[in-house]
Amino acid sequence: MDLQIIEQIDSQALQGSVEQFLEYLGHPTIIRLKGKNRRRRRMLCTLLHGNEPSGLQAIYHFLQQGLEPAVDIDIAIASVQTALTEPRFSYRMLPGKRDLNRCFQPPFNGDEGLLANNILEFIRETRPECLIDLHNTSGSGPAFAVAVLRDENHLALTSLWTNDLIVTDLRLGALMEISEQNVPTVTIECGGANDRPSLLIAKEGLQRYFQNEEVLAKPQENYAVTCYRNPVRLELKPGFQVAYTDDKYCDADITLSVDADRLNYGSLPPDEPIARLGPEGLRALQANNHLGEDVLEKHFCCRDQKLYARHTLKLFMVTTNKNIAEKDCLLYFIEGGLE
Ligand SMILES: [Zn+2]
Repeated sequence: MDLQIIEQIDSQALQGSVEQFLEYLGHPTIIRLKGKNRRRRRMLCTLLHGNEPSGLQAIYHFLQQGLEPAVDIDIAIASVQTALTEPRFSYRMLPGKRDLNRCFQPPFNGDEGLLANNILEFIRETRPECLIDLHNTSGSGPAFAVAVLRDENHLALTSLWTNDLIVTDLRLGALMEISEQNVPTVTIECGGANDRPSLLIAKEGLQRYFQNEEVLAKPQENYAVTCYRNPVRLELKPGFQVAYTDDKYCDADITLSVDADRLNYGSLPPDEPIARLGPEGLRALQANNHLGEDVLEKHFCCRDQKLYARHTLKLFMVTTNKNIAEKDCLLYFIEGGLE
């Protein structure tokens, strides 16, 4: 899929709504902004998922202000057609398509693979000093960052947006894995698409990222960032079904409350049920850690057909979206403690 490059935005395109701006783009786009310092550049990517609009809204807000960034900025807006498909901003990816943020590794097959490869080639050619990939979380919840490396540069980039950084050794083909090719990259999950603070976090972080002279680590600076290493994905096994309801007679393989995303980020004690399980009990679930070990029974048990943690766990990215829960995962949890 072609990536259009825009160096000059038609001023008319900034007069209407965000949706009209997206219609004006029409395709996956890179917008190139000229900064005060033309010798350096940073990159920001957003809308890899079509139902995560906060990044796009924050960009639109920044463009409307007509500010000059500190350095050159390239902004990639990826899943434009997905977001424009009615009902707008409702599809993570279109039916039958791959998750774009799992496509940044070979083989670069299909439209999504080609688009991911085009974005990677642009990054290799332009060599930005860093990259932020801006998302909304699947469920409701606070903002956090994700990276594959935890050095000072990744902490510094995180601190522009949030104080929590998840460091993962999992490699799924996400854009942030380009950190391993010397482009410090942090994924920012600025909170749920419908959470009120998300847009504010996106706007304020973006302002700092575009306008600060330096965003990478400064010597002797202490970044107040808490790191969590290697979260585990709690997944449904293929073919099993989840339901979100408070109806006691639902017979799904796992039934979570409609407000299960309230579990996000709290400490979950072992005496608090997470969900109701169906006749297959724990057999409907799996939880493979980054080493590929199934740690489900190490951390969870089934009592009275209910799912409990065996010890206090920290949960995040608990979704209440059935589609995401079945195709991606139910939630993430931290095996070890804080780091
Ligand atoms: Zn996303």
